Amino acid sequence: MTTLDDLPIRDDLRGRSPYGAPQKAVPVALNVNENTHPIPEAVAHDIVARVAAAILQLNRYPDREFSELRAAFAGYLGHDLRAAQIWAANGSNEVLQHVLQAFGGPGRTALGFGPTYSMYGLLSSGTGTAWVEAPRDAEFELGPETAVAAIREHDPDLVLLCSPNNPTGTPLSHETIAAVVDAARGIVVVDEAYHEFADPGTPSALELLEGRPRLIVSRTMSKAFAFAGARVGYLAADPAVVDALRLVRLPYHLSALTQAAALAALDHSAEMLAMVDDIRGQRERISDELSRLGFHPYRSGANFVLFGGVDEPHRVFEALLARGILIRDIGLPGCLRVTAGTEAETTAFLEAIAEFAPRGDDASKIASGAASVPDATDRPANRMDA
Ligand SMILES: *Cc1c(COP(=O)(O)O)cnc(C)c1O
Repeated sequence: MTTLDDLPIRDDLRGRSPYGAPQKAVPVALNVNENTHPIPEAVAHDIVARVAAAILQLNRYPDREFSELRAAFAGYLGHDLRAAQIWAANGSNEVLQHVLQAFGGPGRTALGFGPTYSMYGLLSSGTGTAWVEAPRDAEFELGPETAVAAIREHDPDLVLLCSPNNPTGTPLSHETIAAVVDAARGIVVVDEAYHEFADPGTPSALELLEGRPRLIVSRTMSKAFAFAGARVGYLAADPAVVDALRLVRLPYHLSALTQAAALAALDHSAEMLAMVDDIRGQRERISDELSRLGFHPYRSGANFVLFGGVDEPHRVFEALLARGILIRDIGLPGCLRVTAGTEAETTAFLEAIAEFAPRGDDASKIASGAASVPDATDRPANRMDA
């Protein structure tokens, strides 16, 4: 049998692992930060109609410049942005890949602050860019001094800031972003994949674009917009940055079907985003309840919560999975991450995790390994009627 090692693969890809968040059919999937609420049916019908119309013209290549979609994104983002400042691709992962293709590459370095989104390292390696992960401050926060010191040390060609940060949920201040742009000589990306979940009134890095031509703000329809399956991400930047990205994209990279679906969804942005407040409320409920149970939830501005104080994360992950609840073991010692879902999904998670709480009888059982088959009758009532 042929293995990867037998193939004439690039040396720098040998021994690497692909992105691999588990995809399992379970009743409660809270592992990849999707919006777990389905698309409203009326919106779905409109999307179908727009896609159906586009199908009749699939004999032709799509609009290579996706002009209508760029104008729609500019309108959605506001901040006086123009279509010339917008770029889009099949998920913000592809948007970031375009950025790395244009501004990274062999002999160049991208810097991030770990723990952060695992795709940054993978996209860097795919484009031959060296990836450096500098540490954060206590509680996974990132202040301007720490960020600027890392830039002085590593002199990167690109800085990838994630705000709020995945997997920690940590919001990032404008003070840090502005200090990073000032200190760095290269491109600075602020990945705002989860911006819509931030507390109301939280300013976007879009406010900082004016006068900062090396700053890029990326967004996605995959999270708050409940459109992960459609694969649409986008960014806003100086029009010259967009010109640079045209040099590396494949011609017609956004299919006519994708453009039609995204345009229809954007026409209904209020309905698509209707559940965001509710999801933010579930996130707060998760943080409050995990604290009460004696776990250590980290500050989150996203639709997920990272929490510490878990004795054996992988064992807890497996125990929840056995109950049909899929969360994320991101390999951080003592930590697990959970997406805020519907109220019912959140309740299912909270009831299951309570059995592994550091506070209460269960903690000693987990520590001694005696609680491998938790018995609900042993435990104090843990009803969470919200
Ligand atoms: C989920 C996520 C994305 C979105 O990726 P898509 O390719 O748009 O689905 C981007 N950045 C971060 C940090 C994410 O967590």
